[in-house]
Amino acid sequence: MTDAELLHYITTTDAEEAEDLYAKARAVREKQYGRDVYFRGLIEFTSFCKNDCLYCGIRRGNARAERYRLTKEHILECCRTGDALGFRTFVLQGGEDQYFTDEKMTEIVRAIRSQFPDHAITLSIGERSRESYEALFAAGANRYLLRHETASEAHYRAMHPAAMKLSSRKDCLFTLRKIGFQTGAGFMVGSPFQTPECLLEDLRFLEELQPHMVGIGPFIPASNTPFAGYPAGSEERTLRMIALTRLLLPRTLLPATTALGTLAGDGREKAMCAGANVVMPNLSPVNVRKLYSLYDNKICTGDEAAECLRCMSLRIKATGFVPSMARGDSLV
Ligand code: SAH
Repeated sequence: MTDAELLHYITTTDAEEAEDLYAKARAVREKQYGRDVYFRGLIEFTSFCKNDCLYCGIRRGNARAERYRLTKEHILECCRTGDALGFRTFVLQGGEDQYFTDEKMTEIVRAIRSQFPDHAITLSIGERSRESYEALFAAGANRYLLRHETASEAHYRAMHPAAMKLSSRKDCLFTLRKIGFQTGAGFMVGSPFQTPECLLEDLRFLEELQPHMVGIGPFIPASNTPFAGYPAGSEERTLRMIALTRLLLPRTLLPATTALGTLAGDGREKAMCAGANVVMPNLSPVNVRKLYSLYDNKICTGDEAAECLRCMSLRIKATGFVPSMARGDSLV
């Protein structure tokens, strides 16, 4: 697609045209992956963060955010709960918490790897050095999620403190990919100051990176952050971005994100109908869930893991897809 065509689809308000786009994306996804929707068990293991991203509820500058970190034993317990429910992929996500040095983090990864030799271990713990990524990979991690957030320089600067650089984030992504991680990039839709041209840059960047997975969700304001007063991103535009990503990167994995489910009750179902094929229900202990508050009103913070699994399975089936507990490796 040309830039003009992409911009047209990014901005269209024609419902029929959007439906047509979703149908095309659905067909591409079905051809590549069939109707399976893969489960990932998300463990949000620390809400401490050294960064100060202007949109994020757990940014360092948010003095109101209550902080927690799980112990290795606690993380392993979440994994065991997940495994017993059938999960074959664990995603450890957190703020950039300096407590988790390479030594501590590799020890955790090694412990999970030794107890669950066949499971996929995914990390989502931000920017680290090449040596750190290599050590984590050697310890047994297979996948890494690091959304680029926006591929536009000016937009990146508007959303982050000056110390954070888009070039560093992009370098991390290429490094992760080179080391051998199945690598996930991604961005928010409707974040403050985003223009259609920013989203076009996101798509072009994804074509260049060829990531194994792309996380796309709407921006949702978080209390006590500089962007608390900005409106949430549009559901429709988020769905169109998911569909366009599916068309441009047919073999990538696309999650139906919790943020989209928060914005609209049936947001994740609509995402599946627009080409998404992954869901990431929460395996974090219920007593800390509300504290991992990236944005306001996040859904599923009160449910046990088993309940989340049941609910998501029903939603997937009701939408005409097939819940899959397989590892669901990327075809990229
Ligand atoms: N520290 C890790 C994990 C970040 S949290 C890292 O740097 O990658 C995971 C994702 O949540 C972020 O990449 C961001 O895209 C998303 N997020 C943060 N604040 C958000 C908000 N207010 N609305 C929607 N998504 C948000």
